[in-house]
Amino acid sequence: MIFKNFVDMHTHTNNSFDGNYPIEEMCEAAIEKGIQVIAFTDHVEMDYFTEKGFDKDAENSYKDMLRAKEMYKDKIDLCVGIELGEPTYDVEASEALINSRDYDFVIGSIHNLRKTDDFCELKYEGMDIEALLDKYFYELKLLADWAKFDTFAHLTYPLRYIVGENKIPVNMQKYQKDIDEILSILASKDKALEINTSGLRQPIGITMPDESIVRRFKELGGKMITVGSDSHFTYHLGAGIEEGMKIAKNAGFDSVYVFKKRQPVEIEII
Ligand SMILES: [Zn+2]
Ligand SMILES: [Zn+2]
Repeated sequence: MIFKNFVDMHTHTNNSFDGNYPIEEMCEAAIEKGIQVIAFTDHVEMDYFTEKGFDKDAENSYKDMLRAKEMYKDKIDLCVGIELGEPTYDVEASEALINSRDYDFVIGSIHNLRKTDDFCELKYEGMDIEALLDKYFYELKLLADWAKFDTFAHLTYPLRYIVGENKIPVNMQKYQKDIDEILSILASKDKALEINTSGLRQPIGITMPDESIVRRFKELGGKMITVGSDSHFTYHLGAGIEEGMKIAKNAGFDSVYVFKKRQPVEIEII
């Protein structure tokens, strides 16, 4: 890490359905890597909140984070976070959930369209990709409008699968108007945009979103960036954060942000 400030604001423990390591092991690994601020942001998918046991996951995750925060308080600064998936598909339950606990940090994300599978599970062959992405960006606009999160996660997530894994080219020019609209909403509502670095270690090979979109966010008045590895493993903690910070800097941001009690705290990129 060439930067002095090393933070990771998007990580998953085994309280996520697709997580692997208990929080203690994640904390030990993060401390070992020299990460100063870490947010645990286990998945809570609001379209299947009680149906698939995400209510229990949220409870367990919260308890574990409070325990670990106390246990490691002299070694790492732990933000009590949550990755709220598809909150706009059940606004009432989402708002009740985030108001029911003292979260430091809420990530808003979309992993699937309504009543369909996660983009990671779709079969793209023969599919009308343009129609699919039109719907995706429409949902992102609704999410940005809802705005009861702190950072807007992994914009361009479906491209990880469409372009990255299935090698289907997408002309992103077609969505520039949608992207501008989303970025403008986020800027006007003082929301952060996440640079999710997981794509750097996956076939797509770039951050989500990429530098051009981060730059556009700056042009449209965006003020805050968060960086997160989206690590589901101890060994991916902090992965690509340095590159993510470089992208933020290149796009004109001098700082990234962490969140404490839902309030932004500036971390200079130095
Ligand atoms: Zn996600
Ligand atoms: Zn995630």
